[in-house]
Amino acid sequence: MNTSEMSIPNAGLSVQKGFAESVKSILEAKYDHTPRAFVHTYGCQGNVSDSERIKGMLHEMGYVFTDSPEDADLVLFNTCAVREHAEDRVFGNVGALKNIKENRRDMIIALCGCMMQQPRISDKIKRSYPYVNLVFGTFAFPRLPEMLYRVLQGKRVFEVAEEKGKIVEGLPTYRDRAFKSWLPIMYGCDNFCSYCIVPYVRGRERSRRPEDILAEAKQLIADGAKDITLLGQNVNSYGKGLDIDINFAKLLKMINDLPGNFVLRFMTSHPKDCSKELLDTMAECEKVERHLHLPFQSGNNRVLREMNRRYTAQEYIALTDYAKSVMPDIAITSDVIVGFPGETYEEFQDTLRLIERVQFTSLYTFIYSRREGTVAAKMPDEVTHREKAEWMRELLDLQESIAAVRTAGYVGETKKVLVEEWDGKGILVGRTNDNITIQFPGDESLIGTFQNVKVTEALSWIVKGELQGE
Ligand code: SAM
Ligand code: SF4
Repeated sequence: MNTSEMSIPNAGLSVQKGFAESVKSILEAKYDHTPRAFVHTYGCQGNVSDSERIKGMLHEMGYVFTDSPEDADLVLFNTCAVREHAEDRVFGNVGALKNIKENRRDMIIALCGCMMQQPRISDKIKRSYPYVNLVFGTFAFPRLPEMLYRVLQGKRVFEVAEEKGKIVEGLPTYRDRAFKSWLPIMYGCDNFCSYCIVPYVRGRERSRRPEDILAEAKQLIADGAKDITLLGQNVNSYGKGLDIDINFAKLLKMINDLPGNFVLRFMTSHPKDCSKELLDTMAECEKVERHLHLPFQSGNNRVLREMNRRYTAQEYIALTDYAKSVMPDIAITSDVIVGFPGETYEEFQDTLRLIERVQFTSLYTFIYSRREGTVAAKMPDEVTHREKAEWMRELLDLQESIAAVRTAGYVGETKKVLVEEWDGKGILVGRTNDNITIQFPGDESLIGTFQNVKVTEALSWIVKGELQGE
């Protein structure tokens, strides 16, 4: 590989393929075994999807995957920056690698993803973690072969510059489970919710072309996908900036109409852009699951304004009422933040009222975490973490009682279930079409198939059942 190619920024796929071949040959000469990589992903499904591309490239370079960092020649963490807790865990886990590397000097340690896209973090890694070989941000990962090549030449590589507006198609993908697939339809976010770091580390919103998405969907179905989730930070604004007449509802219908025995989900929807057209399309499409993940974040209008969410609690409720009117069996799930700066206990009560009113199937709950560089980080925040944790307990108790009533109503019903896991002792775990986890006795060979399961017992978050067959 000639060295002038190494300095080409955003080198194209064919150049990367060349680097991948060189890396493969270097690894073959370096090790007396097949090189092993340990890849750990923190955070959301967007990161899981990026890791599938990263693993695809590593696989192309000759790596196989191991579950144990001690056993790995390459350890890679794909990191999350959404909350401080996630960042602390990464620092803890990187710290723990130091001891392993002391006995394994040629181990390569790589860190990538949202956390690394922040200069204060990558600078800290550069200064304080000299045993980390490679750091790259969210925009650089398609150039992994080139970066790894440079590491194998003995360099320490840091690639965290922003590369605006680029979508790289055609990367190889490695999926652990063929039957359950993530399919990114867009990247980045333009919403700038005042608490959120995502727009800063993932860049501006950009949509993939529908023909590229459809080609990937067809390939997934051919490879055995049974459950496809379309991914984006705000899927409802899909298509913005493309030079063709397309929106998310149209894309959903196009994928729904592909032949095959699969179900379709999507996340995340932003209430300000979730249209009646989309809800009507969902209702019409037989492969789209009756599940809407629609984060509300707060039930108080002043807090929603400060969060820059651009809808009111009343508009949110009207939207969910409409969804229930066109799909009476719909499961609505959501994200909620407790203890946004300046939020009072009285305002938090509005969040509880909204939860009571909408009757969510389940909630992802977060205590507000201050993110440097966001608008909310400058707002005074006087409520203690301890008080916020007490508010959270109240919220969780309410949601648990709502979920318990809902799941109790399932007893005696037969549900279509995609079987996802086996516990090794005869119990299968699956998900119903409205996103409830169900456990039932059965055989490992059923993983990845659809089965009818009769619900026999309801716990608050999950249900138990008996297999009825296909
Ligand atoms: N794009 C999605 C949306 O608009 O709802 C969500 C993406 S974000 C990665 C997932 C969730 O993390 C958000 O819905 C929010 O509830 C939570 N979150 C984001 N920033 C947060 C922060 N600073 N503190 C606590 N939770 C946060
Ligand atoms: Fe963050 Fe808001 Fe964008 Fe979701 S929509 S990723 S919460 S800025």
